[in-house]
Formats: sequence, structure tokens, C-alpha cells
Amino acid sequence: MRLLVVEDEVRLAAALKRGLQAEGFTVDVAHDGVEGLHRARESVREGGYAAIVLDIMLPGLSGYRVCERLRAEGNWVPVLMLSAKDGEYDEADGLDVGADDYLTKPFSYVVLVARLRALLRRGAPPRPAVLAAGDLALDPAKHQVTRGDTEIELTPREFSLLEYLLRRAGEVVPKTDILRNVWDPHHDGDLNVVEVYVGYLRRKIDTPFGRRAVQTVRGAGYRLAADGG
Ligand code: CA
Repeated sequence: MRLLVVEDEVRLAAALKRGLQAEGFTVDVAHDGVEGLHRARESVREGGYAAIVLDIMLPGLSGYRVCERLRAEGNWVPVLMLSAKDGEYDEADGLDVGADDYLTKPFSYVVLVARLRALLRRGAPPRPAVLAAGDLALDPAKHQVTRGDTEIELTPREFSLLEYLLRRAGEVVPKTDILRNVWDPHHDGDLNVVEVYVGYLRRKIDTPFGRRAVQTVRGAGYRLAADGG
């Protein structure tokens, strides 16, 4: 399997290459973000890389931007980000731009290989950073919802509800699933709260636009129309 390592610290890049080769991988190295992006794009014609190890602080183009551009082009190659920075905020940034995993330097080589193998097992299914159903779109990173060109203001709970329904667009989603995922994993309480919030959501994403994205499936739950209603 062929991997791309994008790392500007030459000695670290060389060490990673040697180590990963010893694990049986074929490894290409890029030393800046522009070259990394170029190589990732070029490789698509030959089936693409199995995974990319992507440093965040890079000359030319940061790892965040490289990952963001690949995802915007529909390239779902598994990405493991490396950073000298640490803190939840950076991790959230990395995951928001579409990275699959994150390691803070200095990292254990054993952990790196284990994480890479886990990513490779998962493969590269599409994981869009922006969720959409027709002209209804939700961007988890920007915390933004739009219907066509119109931005819609949602409360945090309404936002979570819509995000959950969008992730399962086209499926019938039982109210109990909604309650446990949007409210509390151990909640066995009143399903009425789900009905109330579905009502709020409809009044914001459907009614003003004369649409019916959130459909009631009697006795079963709700379905968010995959075409946006
Ligand atoms: Ca760096």
C-alpha cells in the first residue's frame, strides 16, 4: 500500500519513511503543503494513496488547507494529521476540515502505525464535511445552516436535531433514536420533547420555504427527505 507523508522537518520525514517502509508500505514524501496537495491529486489517476500522514504546520499551504481542498474535491483518502501544537481546539480544527485522526508530536511510532492501520481498515468512504439534502445544507464546522442562499438561525438543540436527521437522510429515524442521540444517551423519557423540537425545526427549515423536508412516518418516526423536500 502506498502512503504519502507530508512533513517539512526533513529528518522526521526521512525517519517516518524508513519506519513505514519497514512495515511494508511504499512511501512518498512531500516537504511542503503545495507539493503534498499536488501529489495527492496526481495519485488519484493511479488509484490514489491508501492514506496520507499530514503535518499541520507546513510551508506553502498548511495541513488544514491541504485536507480541506482534498475534501472539497471529493477526495476521501484517509488523513492522519500531525501537529506540534496540542489542545482540543487544534484537534477540533483538524477534524472539522475532514481529517480522520490526529496525533500530537512527539508521538510514539508504534501508536502512529496502529492508528494508520485502523484508518486503512476503514478505507475511504465519502464523509462530507458539509451535510446536505437538496438545497438544505448544514456545515458542522461553521455551525451554519442554509436553504438555498438563505441562512437559517437555529438554536443549538435544533441544530443537533437537524444534523442527526441529515446524517441519516432518507431513512426512517425512530423518535427513541433521536432522543438518545440528540438529548441524552441514557434518556428513556418523554418522546414529546422530540415532537416539539421537530415542530420548531419545520417552522424554520420548511414552512417559510413552502417545503416538507421533515416527514412524519406514522407510528415509526421521522424521515428527512434526501432531496430536501
Ligand atoms: Ca511542520
